[in-house]
Amino acid sequence: MRTDGLRASARRMLSIIETLVLPPTCGGCGRRGAWFCAACEEHVRREPTPRCSRCDAPLAVPALRCQGCSAWPPELVLVRAPYVFDGPVRAALHRAKYRGEHARARELGRRLAAFAESEFAPVLRGADLVVPIPLHPSRRRERGFNQSELLAAPVADALGLALVRDLERARSTRPQVGLGREARSRNLSGAFRWSGRRLDGAIVLVVDDVVTTGATLGEAARTLASAGAAGVIGLALAREP
Ligand SMILES: [Zn+2]
Ligand SMILES: [Zn+2]
Repeated sequence: MRTDGLRASARRMLSIIETLVLPPTCGGCGRRGAWFCAACEEHVRREPTPRCSRCDAPLAVPALRCQGCSAWPPELVLVRAPYVFDGPVRAALHRAKYRGEHARARELGRRLAAFAESEFAPVLRGADLVVPIPLHPSRRRERGFNQSELLAAPVADALGLALVRDLERARSTRPQVGLGREARSRNLSGAFRWSGRRLDGAIVLVVDDVVTTGATLGEAARTLASAGAAGVIGLALAREP
């Protein structure tokens, strides 16, 4: 584990040196010059389309709510995510997470913060504090950072809210990839614990990198509600299409 940690720090150091001496590379195609080149930027633009008022999923026919989020626990009030998890955004997040590109994760956080301050501001305005989805300590050591925390920090700054890291993994879980809706939610049951003070009716803004079925945010919402939160708003960088 210690070598993993060292390797992660070395990778991160290289990434820092690289961003200091070279212009950034496109998260989508790797071309040098910007965090997203013009072509990839075009691809990641948020489409103006009718969306579910609760989960923000695009809808073919305008309606207030979709079926997809009807099974969410009531504590998870709503979720917003500016990007679709495919193409350049998928590639950028992969580079940030698995190649230790710390600076790229922070850039994605700045983009998420820009949405939090503009398009999503009306629904995020009610939040009292910002909490990132935690990684299990062993995975955090291996990666060297928690991407959700790097996404959450600029959001908290932009909204003028405290970033609170008291949501913890109570146990390690299998990766959610390849699991269906039911299995995802079973896999995460009891996965988190709250180690901070009672939340006394607070509205918590929980930040994650990708939202798929909402199982992770739903489980976090249950944990935070039992710690006294009145409700949870989820904010993710991207949603699985
Ligand atoms: Zn590109
Ligand atoms: Zn929905």
